[in-house]
Amino acid sequence: MHVTIIGAGLGGLTLARVLHVNGIASTVYEAESSPTARAQGGMLDIHDHNGQIAVEAAGLMTEFRQHVLEGRQAMRIIDPDGTVLFEQDDDGTGGRPEIQRADLRQILLDSLPDGTVQWGRKVERADADKVTFDDGSTVSVDVLVGADGAWSKVRPLLSEATPEYAGSAFVETYLYHADTEHPAAAQMVGGGSMMVPQRGTEIHAHHESGDTLHTYVVLNRSMEWFGAIDFSDNAAATERIAAEFDGWAPALRSLITDGDTPLVFRPHHKLPTGHSWDRVPGVTLVGDAAHLTPPNGEGANLAMLDGAELGLALAANPDDVEAALAAYEATMFARSAEVAAETDSAKDLTLEEMLTFFKQARD
Ligand SMILES: Cc1cc2nc3c(=O)[nH]c(=O)nc-3n(C[C@H](O)[C@H](O)[C@H](O)COP(=O)(O)OP(=O)(O)OC[C@H]3O[C@@H](n4cnc5c(N)ncnc54)[C@H](O)[C@@H]3O)c2cc1C
Repeated sequence: MHVTIIGAGLGGLTLARVLHVNGIASTVYEAESSPTARAQGGMLDIHDHNGQIAVEAAGLMTEFRQHVLEGRQAMRIIDPDGTVLFEQDDDGTGGRPEIQRADLRQILLDSLPDGTVQWGRKVERADADKVTFDDGSTVSVDVLVGADGAWSKVRPLLSEATPEYAGSAFVETYLYHADTEHPAAAQMVGGGSMMVPQRGTEIHAHHESGDTLHTYVVLNRSMEWFGAIDFSDNAAATERIAAEFDGWAPALRSLITDGDTPLVFRPHHKLPTGHSWDRVPGVTLVGDAAHLTPPNGEGANLAMLDGAELGLALAANPDDVEAALAAYEATMFARSAEVAAETDSAKDLTLEEMLTFFKQARD
């Protein structure tokens, strides 16, 4: 068996690694030109009930632990006026250690035989027996896995679903050398994560490695609303976004106004809740390609667990690929439908309900 994987994100790489440790060869075709072609984004909490199970299946727990950022499981919930409503310290025993995404991806890349990942190979079209790249070249495929994220080129083989705008977006900022250059903001965020949950107008921030404050401004607005903002004019865009936070504590607003890089606008898209398909011989999807939701703290964890479970299912059924894919999909469909439904309903939680949830988890 040879497995062709499209996409070297966390899902595709976990799959390749689990196949490798089980003696199954794979090739990962990745559109980007190199592992460092794009900044990989921020800190991820990897949960003991999903992402860490995948790390374990990949045999990489030691390497993972070496890169965990100490103290970053600390968490606080803040009122717009700066009052701390909830606080949890990191005593090192929590079930969701934080790691930089780039480090996690590099651990996976380093664990694969040379040549497994083919960089600069952007898939233009997938058929059940071959994939075609943007330079016109093709490779034939035996087992094909789309791990190519939200805008998957493999998904059309299985399903007509396409992602739709989810009604919200992130506007990201980075404040560097936080303790010295942005002390008030650093104190407000604390040692790990901070969120100000005001429905539809929120600030979430992480104190990441290298003393960086990485902020996700969450705005539930229409695409027309965002379209009226010229993000290429950073000063004007910053002023417009900050205006949504008039009256908030200055240290919170400074997370928007004092950024050291231009704002990054990231609209959220989603696939239908419970997205699934009928079995198509030899083809399946993992991660966002299968079950994209707006960011909910689970997407990377689920992509890795999908990759690990698919790898283990193929290893357990080397002579019956269809049985492996059917078993993998049955579990994956149920799990991702449940998480997507939880994501949908989390939007309606009141502040009180959210605080109760976190307090019960802490105490
Ligand atoms: C701003 C932000 C913050 C997030 N924070 C968290 C978090 O804290 N915790 C969490 O669990 N999740 C988080 N998520 C969600 C998480 O990032 C995704 O769910 C996860 O990355 C999905 O992994 P994946 O491997 O399925 O896809 P991706 O990470 O999207 O990887 C897909 C790969 O396929 C490649 N590719 C795409 N198209 C092609 C093509 N045509 N040909 C070849 N290669 C292709 C891409 O270049 C990419 O490398 C966040 C998402 C965003 C946007």
